Amino acid sequence: ATLANISSDLPAPNIDQIIIKNFIGGKWYEPISNNFIDNKNPSTDAVICQIPDSGPADVDFATSEAKKAFPQWSALHPKERAKYMHKLADIIDANNEAMANFETMDQGKTLFMSRNVDIARTATNFRHFADYIESNLTEFTSQMSYPTANVSQDGKPVIGHALSYVQRSAVGVAGLISPWNLPLYLLSWKIAPCIAAGNTCVCKPSEFTSVTAMMLTKLIKQAGIPDGVVNIVFGLGQSTGNSIVTHKDIPLVSFTGGTITGKHIAAAAAPMFKHLSLELGGKNPGLIFDDCDLDLAIKTSVRSAFQNQGEICLCTSRLYVQRSIFDDFVAKYKRAVRDTVIVGDPTNPKTFYGPLVSKPHFEKVQSYVKHAQDAGYDVDFCVDQTVSPHIKAISASGALTVEHLENGYFMAPTVITNLQQDSRIVQEEIFGPVVSIMPFDTEEDAIRLANDTQYGLASTVWSRDQGRLRRVAGQIVSGLVWCNCWMVRDLNMPFGGFKASGVGTEGGKYSIDFFTKQQSITLG
Ligand code: NAD
Repeated sequence: ATLANISSDLPAPNIDQIIIKNFIGGKWYEPISNNFIDNKNPSTDAVICQIPDSGPADVDFATSEAKKAFPQWSALHPKERAKYMHKLADIIDANNEAMANFETMDQGKTLFMSRNVDIARTATNFRHFADYIESNLTEFTSQMSYPTANVSQDGKPVIGHALSYVQRSAVGVAGLISPWNLPLYLLSWKIAPCIAAGNTCVCKPSEFTSVTAMMLTKLIKQAGIPDGVVNIVFGLGQSTGNSIVTHKDIPLVSFTGGTITGKHIAAAAAPMFKHLSLELGGKNPGLIFDDCDLDLAIKTSVRSAFQNQGEICLCTSRLYVQRSIFDDFVAKYKRAVRDTVIVGDPTNPKTFYGPLVSKPHFEKVQSYVKHAQDAGYDVDFCVDQTVSPHIKAISASGALTVEHLENGYFMAPTVITNLQQDSRIVQEEIFGPVVSIMPFDTEEDAIRLANDTQYGLASTVWSRDQGRLRRVAGQIVSGLVWCNCWMVRDLNMPFGGFKASGVGTEGGKYSIDFFTKQQSITLG
């Protein structure tokens, strides 16, 4: 098939055409469990489709097909696997528009994000790991001289010569479980290194955002990836997800999601000695020093707090600002939010962010706002109806009524000040459009406050002093630190959280390390 007719295979967004079935061994199946759940459009609260809630029998079937495909797939030369992945990436690019539209309908993120981040970077993920595996085929070898057990005529040990090398091989069937905030992007961030390294997989996207994973199954088929290499089962965490984590023939699990779920998974997998990669929650600080480029710090920190409804694990949710500029910063920050963060229809190009992903999540975020109000903090819903005239009403807790989308889960960008470090607002992951701002005095204070949380995923530091940037960055306990920028990603750099933000790292070599077993072989 040519790319042109491949691209016409995917429909324009039309809810009648969304039929979600499990993809197992290259075919589509109704769930053996015969259970289904409703999937809603967060902009309208309307049911857009049903998804299977797969049970242990579905996961078992998918695992056996993945096992069957493993010997041939893992035996392919990496260059051959890379060819399939490049083809898939090209097909994804050709279908960007249709997939982006569905991602937005399913998740609520803006079409701009879906096109330029989620779907575009899904293709990039496949290309990145295809390139990586093509160009990293060789491994370390060492030559050694060593005394053997033999003794020469003059009584000295005979010297032997040995060659050691690392044999890196695929592990088997991997379980890949992903969340709803960057649905296809995060799923592909796991599938790509997994299959590049020669594994096969059983994947489960979030039950809230399954549509683009279903579309991916069609593209995988079109790319000619052998049946059974990628299997996708749909359903809830407790049923489908747990069946993957506890399946005896799945020796490694890569999971991205919440810290509490990560704890369950770690507890379930530990007695089975599974390899685990856990990318979990965050409560990311931004440290704003008084010598920074204030305009840039404000502009970027507005984006880092509110992009994608604040539903990115890397979003900044705690801003600490040096006291000498605190009042000025807060006033300018709020003004910038009012002027630029336009909330509404995610398909409108002017919209900065859309609805929250689901009703339960919307209610969770709202409960934090109510808590902040009850605690007497200053809670400011930064919406200016002259800038955003399509917003018809703002509730007491910041829920928005958006013209034509009255039932959507929209929330105002919320800035909270006058609160303490031990507040739940500062300590717990809210994962919505809510940011707190607090003052600090010295560099030491800033570092202490940044580290005073159970999480350690990402941070930002703003200063013109290069020495300070390096000093502070090196003392913040978080897997990623961005200085005078945010979300600048090099896919070869290690990505992962410290403390309750996770175990293990992903990206380039680090992902391939996880998805391979490394064996030392010595030839004496
Ligand atoms: P979640 O933990 O509720 O769900 C994530 C996935 O796990 C879903 O597919 C879900 O169905 C599944 N799941 C739930 N319970 C399970 C169980 N018992 N066994 C197996 N699977 C189970 O997370 P979410 O609400 O979908 O996503 C938001 C969270 O993800 C936030 O905490 C966010 O910080 C985190 N996140 C982290 C990163 C990162 O890279 N560190 C990236 C994105 C999101």
